[in-house]
Amino acid sequence: MDQYEKIEKIGEGTYGTVYKAKHKTSKEIVALKRVRLDDEDEGVPSSALREICLLKELKHRNVVRLYDVLHSEHRLTMVFEYCDQDLKKYFDSCKGNVDAKTVQSFMHQLLLGLDFCHANNVLHRDLKPQNLLINKNGELKLADFGLARAFGLPIHCFSAEVVTLWYRPPDVLMDAKVYDTSIDMWSAGCIFAEMANGGVPLLPGYDVDDELKRIFKLLGTPTLTTWPEMKQLPSYKEFPAYPPVSLVNVCPTLNEQGRKLLQQLLVCNPKYRLRANKALVHAYFVDVQSR
Ligand code: AMP
Repeated sequence: MDQYEKIEKIGEGTYGTVYKAKHKTSKEIVALKRVRLDDEDEGVPSSALREICLLKELKHRNVVRLYDVLHSEHRLTMVFEYCDQDLKKYFDSCKGNVDAKTVQSFMHQLLLGLDFCHANNVLHRDLKPQNLLINKNGELKLADFGLARAFGLPIHCFSAEVVTLWYRPPDVLMDAKVYDTSIDMWSAGCIFAEMANGGVPLLPGYDVDDELKRIFKLLGTPTLTTWPEMKQLPSYKEFPAYPPVSLVNVCPTLNEQGRKLLQQLLVCNPKYRLRANKALVHAYFVDVQSR
């Protein structure tokens, strides 16, 4: 830690505080994430440490680089590549207007990062605009990959705030215990719609029930024919049979291919949700300009 000079605090994340810092000799600017653990007496679980050290190997242009993991007594500090802002702050700076080309480019980069992590068997499990970081060159990078597996899916933030449910798929909301890459694809769909709508969240539920209700009112309530495994989920409960709404009214600025892609991501049955590798070759991206 002595090698770094803290510049300022930049955020309170799910797992701890984030600082902007400078390496004393190389002068490189980094983001330091200091993890707080629920039970500080127990120290950092070795399983978490092992998981996190593996993330150092996850090197991709659309994934925030983890340069180093510093572990001392009861603290864990992760040294990350520094990015200028997150997607939430970007939305604020655009004042509700994200142009169609930027939406397409950000979505493409989000899927490139996801495809890479998924191909390496790493899930995010808690994707949201706050952990999509953007640098000056318009590059989008996924942050906090793998942390949910190391520390558990967050319920509270470090500051005891409840974690947002807005990007969680119905299977996870009904307490599915087995996760796969489909969890991140749902979140990607929610973020896609939010970008297209200039930063207005698609499904801002205030608790699990309200979140599920909003999902079903948008997509139509799944049936045991469209999703037979739903009934076996620990927190399964019956909802009224809502009819689906047309996405034309939900995301009016998205073109037809964009709406088709969104529809294939926002599928209640995780088995039929589009995977990142398939989403990348979707017709919506025919004219994408790679950064
Ligand atoms: P997080 O724990 O990733 O949710 O971090 C909380 C906030 O800190 C984020 O919303 C970002 O604004 C900021 N942040 C996290 N990581 C970085 C980074 N690598 N570079 C710059 N800002 C970051």
